[in-house]
Amino acid sequence: MTEIQLSLINFPHHEILSTILNGFSNDFEFTADGVFRRITPSLCPDCGFPMNHNGFNTYRKGHLGEANIGRYLCGACGKSVEEDRTFWNNLKTGFFDILTEICLRLRLNHASYELIEEIMNFIYPRDKDTIRNMIQSAIERLKVPAVQNIQFVHYDEQHPKAGRNQKYRLTLMDSISRQVIADELFDSKDAGTIENFLRRNLDTHKPVFIVTDLYRGYSEIFNRVFGNEVTHQLCLLHLNKLIVNDFPRKTSIEQEFIKYRLLNIFYNRELEIEFLSCLIDEEKTVLKKSRTEYKAWIKEAKRLFHEFVHNLELKRRREGQNLKMRTYYEALNNSRDLFSEIDSFEVAVRKRLMKIEELWPKLTAFYLVDNAPATNNALENYYSTSLKTHRKKQLEATGIEDQMKLSALKRSGILARPRRSLLEAFFMFIPFLDTG
Ligand SMILES: [Zn+2]
Repeated sequence: MTEIQLSLINFPHHEILSTILNGFSNDFEFTADGVFRRITPSLCPDCGFPMNHNGFNTYRKGHLGEANIGRYLCGACGKSVEEDRTFWNNLKTGFFDILTEICLRLRLNHASYELIEEIMNFIYPRDKDTIRNMIQSAIERLKVPAVQNIQFVHYDEQHPKAGRNQKYRLTLMDSISRQVIADELFDSKDAGTIENFLRRNLDTHKPVFIVTDLYRGYSEIFNRVFGNEVTHQLCLLHLNKLIVNDFPRKTSIEQEFIKYRLLNIFYNRELEIEFLSCLIDEEKTVLKKSRTEYKAWIKEAKRLFHEFVHNLELKRRREGQNLKMRTYYEALNNSRDLFSEIDSFEVAVRKRLMKIEELWPKLTAFYLVDNAPATNNALENYYSTSLKTHRKKQLEATGIEDQMKLSALKRSGILARPRRSLLEAFFMFIPFLDTG
């Protein structure tokens, strides 16, 4: 133990000082003047002659305090040596690590550097550039643990703007562990970029089941990268979004009915369809009367329907259930029924049905593989927590990358509960408070 010379000034801090100086041997003292030094100076490193005490150097950290570190002088050769000040550096690190943790969490929740600076002014003032450096070097130091046993993966893209530059964010997520395998930012999303991204991040010799949206022909890329080891699933929720967009915003009940029959191919929407079918005949009757009467009627009918749909949603949420998926044969029958009436539908619906038929093997791949995902829901959720759509445009390029890594770190549990608070770290400075 380091000997602590008690004085009126440092007596109340005895406990803190012994915690701080715990690692040091009995050879050290903390003098009544607050100087940290060896009781008996060691031998000169150059000539081996015993050195003498020779005052101290003062180290200050704004708002926190100052430490006096003892100096020694060799009487024989004139060599000057300063005592090791690791304890002081550790105190500072302990404090600033917690500040950094606070900043990381603010950043994770999409606070701007301006806002963080504003908040820091209440805690420990630091300017924006210092804060940015603190955060970025902390992110660089942290390592995201690697994902193992990749088999089922989600692939998706986002197209955020970094200032004026269009960027492309490509993301791969492990479907079982929900861990992000790779989340990278590129200047282009051409086939070569995607191909390279897949090769670097997935085992191309292992069978892979990969879910994507319907936007573009990923199949060729996948076949080049994985050969016949790949099963490609198109996200059914994305299909449903496209179906909804095939219809105008202000639909008639009849159109709504067709929409729900399309949505009903892969998910059970029987209750909604039943509700709508009760209104279809009434709609025809009202349409024969007058335009104004219909306007009032459809407004009320749609309100009732939305309320009905909303209540079904609430019920599912209460019971912790998702929309029920169709079995393969139900899906097949539902699409066949629609096909048999295809000529009676509007152009957009006909095109959609043709597309569904064309893509059928990729829409239904999940039925053939045990526990395979049918949607990119997991990845959508990750996107919505890691980079809010409405913020995408505001972030700079480094901002986007930091944000991506931060949320990966959060998911892997690295940003866990703090081991101690900022105040606890601050109390350690009490013996060193700068009173002058
Ligand atoms: Zn010497």
